[in-house]
Amino acid sequence: MSRIVQESLDTPVAGTYDVIVVGGGASGTVAAIAAARSGARTLLIERGGCLGGAATANLVAQWVAFFHGETRVVGGIPYELAERVIDAGGSEGFHRYVMGEAAGTPFPLRVLPFNPETVKWVLDDVTREAGVDVLFHTTFARVLTDGSMLAGASAETVQGRLAFLAPIIIDASGDALACASVGVPFKEDDGNGRQPCTLSFRLSNVDVPRFKAVPSVERRALVLEGLRRGELFWESVSFVSTPGQTDAICLMSRIQGIDALDARDASRAEQEGRRQIRSILAFLRRDMPGFENAILADVAERVGVRETRRIEGRYTLSEEDIMQARSFEDSIALGAGPMDRHQPGGTGIRLYAPPAPFEIPLRTLIPVNVEGLLVCGRTLSSTREAMAGARHMATSMAMGQAAGTLGAIAATRNTLPSFVPTGEVQQSLQKAGALFRREQLTPTP
Ligand SMILES: Cc1cc2nc3c(=O)[nH]c(=O)nc-3n(C[C@H](O)[C@H](O)[C@H](O)COP(=O)(O)OP(=O)(O)OC[C@H]3O[C@@H](n4cnc5c(N)ncnc54)[C@H](O)[C@@H]3O)c2cc1C
Repeated sequence: MSRIVQESLDTPVAGTYDVIVVGGGASGTVAAIAAARSGARTLLIERGGCLGGAATANLVAQWVAFFHGETRVVGGIPYELAERVIDAGGSEGFHRYVMGEAAGTPFPLRVLPFNPETVKWVLDDVTREAGVDVLFHTTFARVLTDGSMLAGASAETVQGRLAFLAPIIIDASGDALACASVGVPFKEDDGNGRQPCTLSFRLSNVDVPRFKAVPSVERRALVLEGLRRGELFWESVSFVSTPGQTDAICLMSRIQGIDALDARDASRAEQEGRRQIRSILAFLRRDMPGFENAILADVAERVGVRETRRIEGRYTLSEEDIMQARSFEDSIALGAGPMDRHQPGGTGIRLYAPPAPFEIPLRTLIPVNVEGLLVCGRTLSSTREAMAGARHMATSMAMGQAAGTLGAIAATRNTLPSFVPTGEVQQSLQKAGALFRREQLTPTP
């Protein structure tokens, strides 16, 4: 884009807060709950019409990384949300699941499959109980500054552009949009090696037990034949079935070569996703036992994006940190993996396990050059490989609890996040039941 048009705006101030969270996805919703419970006046702005992010808007209907093997590594608010979803009838509880089975890289793990509609209700309830001010259909525009200090954020709403004031902003947009608007540097990335995107869809009238009765070698043979004929797009019949075993929420499209930060690419991704779904549906109905009478019930509100920006933070989490189980003084969350990298440009997936739960330092959530701004979720400061193991939703939620807690302490004490002693954040997290050090863990019976 070479030409620039100058705009001058008079933006009404529509509220004053301690903490503004940008993005109501996995990490942002938990960040907002944590901030509000810690006493901060908290605003959560979300461009869609529901909370949950990938879990709801992208129909990614299972929370991964609560468990490393049989050991639970995420507690606090994320685990409370998991229990609330189960209590509300939205999930039958944690299940053992084999990821990548048809891809030839079987990887057993414990996941929480759920009905995304129940997750929406639960997140509405929990944010309301915590006193979070939630604004839907509100698209973050830019960070506002006052001299060298952060002053708030502007956003496009149904009332037009509005400004909200706060000294702390937590960027949970998945794309580090707030960071980009104030010049936070990002990890070098030309957009080429990014993981593919997926448009998920929901089928009803599926006989899930009949599908599960097909031996995995037979399923894999069917999938490889579908791939050979160009009717499938990766080596997987990856789906989550909701309680009742009648629906399959399918993550089977694979949209390559997309820079989700480019408006035209992002639009092309939606059209390509729908094209693939039409082809996958015809394949499943014709060839896959259990799917003969499947009905297309829903397509996700938007394409799911696995990877865009990663910030340059005060520490960069690496694959070696994870694989060598390094300990950090300032650990604030535990990841479980798997290291899960969908092959850019290909049909496979690289899946392998960290040997132990891994610690995530608080410094990965603090940009190198801007005070008052924090991140959580998949934009943490990390190498591409480390991000592939830390991006799962339970881990993202755990990072959200840490960012929200730190943001609230800083705002209510009128100081900057980097002046808050890490020990205080850890103490608050511990009180709230969060797990962030390997020594806290006990294997689940
Ligand atoms: C196809 C796919 C399959 C996956 N499978 C799994 C899985 O099975 N299990 C698992 O645990 N993880 C899975 N993941 C990974 C996981 O979903 C993400 O890494 C995780 O959700 C990241 O959390 P987040 O909070 O950073 O982002 P998100 O959960 O994506 O949330 C970002 C939020 O910010 C909002 N937002 C963005 N821009 C704006 C704006 N301008 N203004 C206001 N709001 C904005 C979005 O609407 C969204 O709600 C998958 C991801 C994808 C894409």
